Amino acid sequence: MPRKKKEDQKPDMPPIELPKMKERPQLVKGMKDILPGDQCYWEYIRDTARSIASLYSFDRIDTPVVESAALFTHGLGKLTDIVEKEMYAFIDQGGQNLALRPEFTAGVARAYLEHGMNVWPQPVKLYAVGPVFRHDKPQEGRYRQHNQFSCEIIGEGKPAADAQLMFLAYKFLKTVGLMPQLHVNSIGCLACRSVFKEQLIEYYRSKRSVLCEDCKRRLTKNPLRILDCKNDTCQELKAKAPHIVDSLCESCQSHFMGVVDFLDELDIPYQHNPHLVRGIDYYTRTVFEFYALKEESPEGDDDEKKAAPIALGGGGRYDNLIEMFGGVSTPASGFALGIERIILAMKAREAAGGVRCVPPRKPIDIFVAQLGEQAKRKAMLLFEDLIADGFSVAESFTKDSLKAQLELANKMGVKLSLILGQQELIDGTIIIRNMEGGEQEVVDRKKLMKILHRKLIVENGDISNP
Ligand code: AMP
Repeated sequence: MPRKKKEDQKPDMPPIELPKMKERPQLVKGMKDILPGDQCYWEYIRDTARSIASLYSFDRIDTPVVESAALFTHGLGKLTDIVEKEMYAFIDQGGQNLALRPEFTAGVARAYLEHGMNVWPQPVKLYAVGPVFRHDKPQEGRYRQHNQFSCEIIGEGKPAADAQLMFLAYKFLKTVGLMPQLHVNSIGCLACRSVFKEQLIEYYRSKRSVLCEDCKRRLTKNPLRILDCKNDTCQELKAKAPHIVDSLCESCQSHFMGVVDFLDELDIPYQHNPHLVRGIDYYTRTVFEFYALKEESPEGDDDEKKAAPIALGGGGRYDNLIEMFGGVSTPASGFALGIERIILAMKAREAAGGVRCVPPRKPIDIFVAQLGEQAKRKAMLLFEDLIADGFSVAESFTKDSLKAQLELANKMGVKLSLILGQQELIDGTIIIRNMEGGEQEVVDRKKLMKILHRKLIVENGDISNP
């Protein structure tokens, strides 16, 4: 509705005050708008995720954003950064303890149990795409709402499942134009981990005073978490910490060898990262992470920053989770890739190498231009007919000036413009303007579709929407 001009207001009416906000509303810290210019990346990533997941027989699952807080505190571990510091937990109006999901796996495992998927043919392969929430410290590539593409294989314990997940993630990242660096490790089962924990405590005991406050606490309660602490000193100390693979029991060792053999066979480049543990307690045996080398740092030409890898995603095996949630022992593994990080890496690659990671947009074939009120109405119908016939069409029905409309058509790189004016309406004709050369021809309105098909398909052979 157009705003009422002051002079239009009735003199005996008091001016109507709008309830204005004191301050202009702003994006909540750590959140991100995805503007139209970026949607091509999102669409491409979602499409690629969908098609690769279905190639490997993964079915889509959508779990709710809101779950019970206990699902995560119990599943991920109370002393993990995600649960301890980052989870958006709240009590709702009904007094329920809830949380915005900080990751997908726990919700998918809950759904597996709740919907009796244990009686489906095993393994059950599921994928999800959507937002997760973490009260992280906001910075480039780190948001409080970010989106993940996650895949889970539930009901299969063999190394082939882990390898297939890594291969799928690798293929996905390669398809969207990245050069993923895969790091792999095994953190064993609960038995080998308890041996390793003793070794870690032994190693860190004498260094306790220089550990960060969190890690001092972790040393007694959950020493494994020290290995994924981001604090600089803790990171430095990690370099000489014992390696968990040296404490693996025979069965975990042979499982890890099995995974690595598959990776060799599949020819995926990877490196064994002996300190990789991942930041969540439910992991058992295989853990892995994908990094992208930052091709060009937005911070400048500092060499160190240039080489800093950004984590694109990670995953691993979680053989105890279903049982921890009350089901029977069910091996499982999965991964989650961070979509915002992937897009950052795609853009960095595009900027550095001049390559295009996202396929170019479909060109628009036809612009419908009109002159005069009556022609405008008919042009709207013509627009619908053209869409129905499979053409990709643009318009600007709010513009009256023909010059402005043709300028817009030019900007859009349209091949042909159709011009419908008062005279053409009377004559039952329409003008076809070739936007490249500027030549125009007047054609019979009834023959228009046939002519357009000939021009765009037969003559050019390159109509974008057959
Ligand atoms: P994680 O399971 O914590 O390793 O998360 C999987 C992936 O999600 C990471 O490798 C990142 O690519 C992405 N990710 C995690 N946290 C954030 C965040 N706060 N903002 C953006 N992406 C994130």
